[in-house]
Amino acid sequence: MSNSQNLYAEIIIPLALPVNYTWSIPGEFQQSAKPGIRVEVQLKNKRYAGIIKKIFTEKPSGFEPRPILNILDDEAQLYKEQLQLWQWIADYYMCSEGEVMQAAMPANLKLSSETILVWNEDHDEDFSALNDREYIVAEALSIKKELKLSEVQQLLDASHVYPVIKKLIDKNVCHAWEELKEKYKEKTETYIMLHPQYRDEEKLAALLNTSSRAPKQMELLLSYLHLIKEDGEVTQSSLLKKSNASAAQLKGLFDKNILLAEKRSINRIKSLPPNIYIDFTLSAAQQTAFNEIVESFKEKNVCLLHGATASGKTQLYMKLIEQYIQQGKQVLYMLPEIALTAQIVRRLQKHFGGYIAVYHSKFNANERVEIWNRIKSGGLKVLLGARSALFLPFKDLGLIVADEEHDASYKQQDPAPRYHARDAAIYYASLFRDAKVLSGSATPSVETYFNVQTKKYALVELKERFGNATPPSIEIVDLTTISSKEKTFISPQLKDAIEETIAQHKQVILFQNRRGYTPYMVCNVCGWIPQCKNCDVTLTYHKAKNKMICHYCGTEYPVLYTCPQCGSHDFKQRNFGTEKLEELVVETFSSAKVARMDYDTMKGKHNHDTLIKLFEQQKINLLVGTQMIVKGLDFENVHLVGILDADSLLYFADFRVNERAFQLMEQVSGRAGRKDNRGKVLIQVRNTHHPVLQFVKAHDYKALYDFDIQARQQYFYPPFSRLIHIEFRHKENHIAEEAANIFTLGIKDFERYITGPAQPVINRLRNKYLWHLLIKLPKNAELINRCKTQIQQQTAILKFNKRYAGVDIIPDVDPV
Ligand SMILES: [Zn+2]
Ligand SMILES: [Zn+2]
Repeated sequence: MSNSQNLYAEIIIPLALPVNYTWSIPGEFQQSAKPGIRVEVQLKNKRYAGIIKKIFTEKPSGFEPRPILNILDDEAQLYKEQLQLWQWIADYYMCSEGEVMQAAMPANLKLSSETILVWNEDHDEDFSALNDREYIVAEALSIKKELKLSEVQQLLDASHVYPVIKKLIDKNVCHAWEELKEKYKEKTETYIMLHPQYRDEEKLAALLNTSSRAPKQMELLLSYLHLIKEDGEVTQSSLLKKSNASAAQLKGLFDKNILLAEKRSINRIKSLPPNIYIDFTLSAAQQTAFNEIVESFKEKNVCLLHGATASGKTQLYMKLIEQYIQQGKQVLYMLPEIALTAQIVRRLQKHFGGYIAVYHSKFNANERVEIWNRIKSGGLKVLLGARSALFLPFKDLGLIVADEEHDASYKQQDPAPRYHARDAAIYYASLFRDAKVLSGSATPSVETYFNVQTKKYALVELKERFGNATPPSIEIVDLTTISSKEKTFISPQLKDAIEETIAQHKQVILFQNRRGYTPYMVCNVCGWIPQCKNCDVTLTYHKAKNKMICHYCGTEYPVLYTCPQCGSHDFKQRNFGTEKLEELVVETFSSAKVARMDYDTMKGKHNHDTLIKLFEQQKINLLVGTQMIVKGLDFENVHLVGILDADSLLYFADFRVNERAFQLMEQVSGRAGRKDNRGKVLIQVRNTHHPVLQFVKAHDYKALYDFDIQARQQYFYPPFSRLIHIEFRHKENHIAEEAANIFTLGIKDFERYITGPAQPVINRLRNKYLWHLLIKLPKNAELINRCKTQIQQQTAILKFNKRYAGVDIIPDVDPV
């Protein structure tokens, strides 16, 4: 190509800029520059790895573009569909494409001056494949373990830093560390298994009978057999600990090929050869639903699978996935973060082997890049992930499954992009030829069901519970009728039911949507309540930690025994959380094996999987938990579910309260009674006349929908309007308030659609005061776009004013 031509590139860099900037492409790079390629650019003395969005010949007016410094890739990191998705998200959710890039790309692919390179501890220090420049940096890294990009610049000729770093990352010498994220060290454990030849019971018995020569080893083997029966899986460390054996004795058993060791990471799935192995057949009802879905995709791009809990939706997904793999298409299987358990991973892996991978924010940067590349090449066919998996560079996407589509965790709250992955998935699929979206839920969101009613989406129902199980019976327990003598958190009715269930060797789940011990401590004399110093939030007492904790910012405080206001020592504990409930349950039902599942007990992902496994194996009779227990779990022996305090779900200032309360109660209830026994649900509540309770009792989603959609229409809430919520945050209340008021005046054209500004109920978080503005717009694209433009203009105007430059102005489109 002649180098006389002037070429320019619009480049996305990982920053919150109001617009993308333009750089010029020097002649030497013109041949290789194309959209999706990463280039090194400089902005205000800082260097970034940006992505070329588009290339054009017309010189921008008003300024002289600077040249790009380097080209970092031989081939594009993403396809045009991903760049289109970024732009759509930025426009729709009011953020910059740079912010989308931040969320979309693994750290290793978005270098900036702030990047820190971390030595890869697994590298064997064989530097023979490196050139001189790479060697200099690699050697420094092997000694110092971490290098800032500026330090690398000092080591090398400054203009050639990025290509060297890219090579080092590609060669696994180091990876880029995102400063704000916790460093994730993958956990591996050594698991012990019986050699396959002794899986035959007779051979095993023969071995145990004949081997008297090494009694210590036999003792160890017996401990192993005992543990594997108890726990299902045995790690080397737990075996040695529990058997008091030595590593040498264990090695003896390995040498004799009696036991085997396997090092396995806890989160990653094993790399298996790709295969398809479907060992189940669909029931008649499932088959009908399957056919209906396939048929609906001829007409519509989105289908809602409204399937009762335990109707076997997952099996339907798997059949569908099989079909798409066979057509050579790729599938994205999205789940809410919390439902991404080892349970579902194991099932999928069993059926699809190496065709499937999991994408998890907890994986390190190298692993994420590896999956990124395998999706880009088209080699990987099925990706299971939470919302951020949407950003992977699919080559030929055929299907997106959005399971539990109603789940609020599909919406990213903080930071930007505040996108809704289910909705963005529908746009994303529309960019690929013939790609379809299947949303699944037992309790669809009202918005989605409205789209069904208005014929935008197809609907397929799967009402029959798998194996013809009957839905659980639901009983309402009126807490107001319980005499104060019997006052406890567990009503006599629930107590009896628990005892009966445990006596039958069946399992119980108790649901309480508050964690901690007591959510409120109140001074009995003056009414003082301990509060967080940074937030307008009362503190929750956590007994095991012996601390009072703010559930918003996490700050911990020592427990107070004296009221700072009146000096009294008399505190009353109001209400109860899961920690206290667990304590009470252990006291009351001494024969039960009890466990608790909530944010506090589930800090590590591993804990969650272990607890689920123990519950599956019925090593636990009674599980106490928050809403964590309702997601993605499939338990077969649960007979009784108790909802301890339904009022706390029914009275909440949010237009989605009815929908949410119904979803939670219905999903919790769905845990009860599978297969051949009819489950039972007890709902403890004061306001027994709340309509939602009647819908739950009848398992009647449609009635809930009809009830709720009327209220939504009456109060002009979604799906009848589009909401844009704007939050103003500042450490001084009056500055935040002024900014909100000035801003509101600035968008006066939309006055009739605006509620506020007002202070939210919780008006201070993490030391900043909050003011809110809610805009409810008619669903008119032109009007909505005009409003967004004005919001952006007003934000720029306020930011320009010194007094308000420090106010965070945060727009949130379609808040959940
Ligand atoms: Zn007091
Ligand atoms: Zn706080």
